[in-house]
Amino acid sequence: MRKFIVMLGPPGAGKGTQAKRLSETLGIPHISTGDLLRAMKTLDTPLAQKVQVIMARGDLVDDETTVEIAQDRLLEKDCQEAGAILDGFPRNLVQAESLKQWLGEQKAKIDIALLVDLPRDVAVQRIVGRAKQEGRADDSQEVAAKRYEVYMAETAPLIPYYEAADLLKTVDGNRSMDAVTSDLLTAIQGL
Ligand code: AMP
Repeated sequence: MRKFIVMLGPPGAGKGTQAKRLSETLGIPHISTGDLLRAMKTLDTPLAQKVQVIMARGDLVDDETTVEIAQDRLLEKDCQEAGAILDGFPRNLVQAESLKQWLGEQKAKIDIALLVDLPRDVAVQRIVGRAKQEGRADDSQEVAAKRYEVYMAETAPLIPYYEAADLLKTVDGNRSMDAVTSDLLTAIQGL
């Protein structure tokens, strides 16, 4: 049975790392819209340039572009067979509703939304640290704070949204990576 798992949490919570680990353990593809958008950097098109400017500011790319990129990826064979661990998508209520409707058309649904939670200060500190390690242009101190603000305004409303749908499971992200992975796997068990 294919599974669709949404990963939620502030930037810096380790969603990406955890999503990769779950993907390896469960054999479900890890789909990161951030990675898909960053991959556009190599394209020399007006859309690719626009996306780069938006990402460098810490703002969200428009829903139409993001939804299209995510849907294209979800139509590939691996996701059609096994589903997806969605990391960074949906990022707001419009994307969440669009995903729900689209999956419904494919006779599929979100099976669970996993929130990796983290206090603001820890989140911002982690994003800045990671930027230095990975050379990510979109993660300076200022941009880190901006990305957190955007998360609170746009993405955090997905927490009550999935809670109301009885799909939300929350784990404390302020612990070792192994402890977080273990809790996430427990939350997924029995799906
Ligand atoms: P991430 O790697 O998930 O932290 O995303 C990095 C950046 O990519 C974000 O700050 C946004 O600019 C953009 N991005 C990634 N996913 C989305 C999405 N679902 N909707 C809009 N923008 C996105």
